[in-house]
Amino acid sequence: MKIQLLPSTFDAQGHATLEQRLTCFLIDDCVAVDAGSIAIALTEDQRSKVHDIIITHPHMDHIACLPIFIDDLYPTLRQPMRVHATQEVIELLERDVFNWNVYPRFSDLKNDYGPVMEYVPIPPSGEFSVAHLKVVAVPVNHIVPTVGLLVSDGKSNVAFSSDTAETDAFWKVINETKQLDALLIEASFPDELANLAEVSRHFTPSSLSKELKKLTHNGTDILAVHLKATHRDTIVDQLNALKIPKLSVMNPGEIYSW
Ligand SMILES: [Zn+2]
Ligand SMILES: [Zn+2]
Repeated sequence: MKIQLLPSTFDAQGHATLEQRLTCFLIDDCVAVDAGSIAIALTEDQRSKVHDIIITHPHMDHIACLPIFIDDLYPTLRQPMRVHATQEVIELLERDVFNWNVYPRFSDLKNDYGPVMEYVPIPPSGEFSVAHLKVVAVPVNHIVPTVGLLVSDGKSNVAFSSDTAETDAFWKVINETKQLDALLIEASFPDELANLAEVSRHFTPSSLSKELKKLTHNGTDILAVHLKATHRDTIVDQLNALKIPKLSVMNPGEIYSW
């Protein structure tokens, strides 16, 4: 499985930088997990291949580019853009984003080939298929309805925590899978902002190190993501100081394979 954290910040010459302000992971060039930077950071080839987007929760850093992406592709889509999300999240997207005020209700619109956007509700069991992938969605502990994901291509299994604080069901699901190749987990705030992390339900390096004790797999690559850009250097130093084996910070733009 090939995974890329799409860049979301660029220098004056247009080169991607390491700061992550928006969240969007691309799996095997065709399935997106969240859509923060999807309209600004895909190659043309990737842009033509993505037809499935899993939205973990409706916070702006995870959906900012979703309306723009569909808008860009509107005349050329020969199949609808499928947005996979829990029913609660679909209702929030319809109420707060695709409401004809913030942006058009694309789920009601058609181009010359048919509907341009289709919601695919994640079933209550949390298990569903997307393209060639099997996915299990598990509610995590954030301030809006949010799911973490366990994604499998039949050979590799990769878990995405999405945005969360201390949680349990997610660990149960990933610990029960036989093999876990990689865990992409959030580390949003530096330890100095533990209070802010607590009220907004995110991790700091310190709370993450406690939480990682719940992981029973050995040898899994652990990649920290969602580091608040303003505090990136501090968070990186604090994560490195933990000396947790196989823990590193995921680089936007880099292609990771498992
Ligand atoms: Zn969030
Ligand atoms: Zn976020």
